Amino acid sequence: MRNIAILGAGMAGLGAAHHLFSEKISSVVYEKHSYHGGHATSFKFENSYIFDDGPHVSFTQNERLQKLFVESVNDKYEVIHTQVNNYWKGQWIKHPAQCNLYGLPKELVVKILKDFIDAQYKDHGLINNYADWLIAAFGKTFAETYPMEYGLKYHTTTADNMNTSWLGPRLYRPNLEEVLNGALSSETPDVHYVDYFRYPSHNGFASYLDIFLKQADLKLNHELIKLDPKKRMLYFGNGTTRSYDAVISSIPLPEIVPIIDGAPDDVLAAAEKLACTTCVVVNVVIDREDISNAHWSYFYDRDIFFTRLSFPHMLSPNNVPKGTGSIQAEAYYSKKYRPLDRSPEDCIHPIIRDLKKCNLIREDDQILFTNTWVIPYANVIFDLDEAEARETVQGYLSDIGIHYCGRYGEWKYIWTDQSFLSGEMAAQSVLDER
Ligand SMILES: Cc1cc2nc3c(=O)[nH]c(=O)nc-3n(C[C@H](O)[C@H](O)[C@H](O)COP(=O)(O)OP(=O)(O)OC[C@H]3O[C@@H](n4cnc5c(N)ncnc54)[C@H](O)[C@@H]3O)c2cc1C
Repeated sequence: MRNIAILGAGMAGLGAAHHLFSEKISSVVYEKHSYHGGHATSFKFENSYIFDDGPHVSFTQNERLQKLFVESVNDKYEVIHTQVNNYWKGQWIKHPAQCNLYGLPKELVVKILKDFIDAQYKDHGLINNYADWLIAAFGKTFAETYPMEYGLKYHTTTADNMNTSWLGPRLYRPNLEEVLNGALSSETPDVHYVDYFRYPSHNGFASYLDIFLKQADLKLNHELIKLDPKKRMLYFGNGTTRSYDAVISSIPLPEIVPIIDGAPDDVLAAAEKLACTTCVVVNVVIDREDISNAHWSYFYDRDIFFTRLSFPHMLSPNNVPKGTGSIQAEAYYSKKYRPLDRSPEDCIHPIIRDLKKCNLIREDDQILFTNTWVIPYANVIFDLDEAEARETVQGYLSDIGIHYCGRYGEWKYIWTDQSFLSGEMAAQSVLDER
């Protein structure tokens, strides 16, 4: 096996390269950008302010990966007890809201409790979609007031248009005692699935990847524009070409299929059906650090422009100069359901307006820095077309010998550690073929 090409230098691509390196096999990683890391990259602005490509923290339980990441940052990392909250109609609610109803309007709490109890004893029949699942888990009133509203902002489509394959531990299902306890008292246990997380002390999340850079021949500024599976040839936008014996791809499925020479029409049509959100991030730095107690916050109201906020200065104090605080806001769009209807720069004003509305920025705060960019592929949308379309595309890739991996190759809602492991598994499947 002489020629192993890896497409994409994110967690998955570098995971694949790491596995081959561990097996003493060389590989070449091709990355379209001038930097590595993919979604796990970090940027420094004005030599002072560090922002990741959307909020990134590591909560991996995998001890081998924990060790590799620790080695990558020379033992310099923060261990932080997660604080998360929710904002709804001017109120801050401890996360998850279903276990923390205390302080919400009395009539609403009574309706939520009544529906929750009914839902526990009802036969819900077949669960056909995410909306059915939410109603069965939480009762109609809670489902419609909170997760369905948040989901519409975050996934850009309605819950009845989504499957439930992606849920995993994401939505906590409390028992009646936990719900009643949270309705009667503000003292509730923390049940978030991320109780502690780790974050590099210096240079943002991307420094977890430094250790892997020497483990492969990394070719930046190499955007794959054509792949010929018969000739086993790769063609890049910068004019270079290269043959391969095996290829591992972490390129998003809807991007790779159209550049494969001879991709059949039904596969092209399936790739078109795969939907993903696009995230506009807006970064803000102000002259004060006591902005919030939470590391990240969820926003349910439709008239609040952003869906989620995070506070990078709380992940590491070295992400900003002392005495300043940083906010990263996310607003979600999608080509299929909610096309981006403005330039990212036009998102800055409404986001600052709503940060003030939620009292996170005060009138007398000085705004020291703002910027924005678009993350074209954020979260896979698990709509009702997803499973069949994904199977068609992945079946075809397997047939023509392309080993796919990562969040947008597997087309799954997976985290950085899982993407890395997915790359390692793809590399192993190449070795198994020998
Ligand atoms: C907003 C947001 C927040 C997140 N927060 C967390 C978190 O807190 N913790 C966590 O663990 N995970 C988080 N994740 C998930 C995490 O980012 C992903 O699981 C992981 O980074 C995916 O890695 P990947 O290598 O599979 O994909 P990518 O990072 O997308 O890597 C694919 C690479 O392929 C390159 N590429 C694409 N097309 C081409 C081409 N034609 N030619 C060459 N190269 C190409 C891309 O430039 C990219 O570098 C978050 C994701 C998002 C979107």
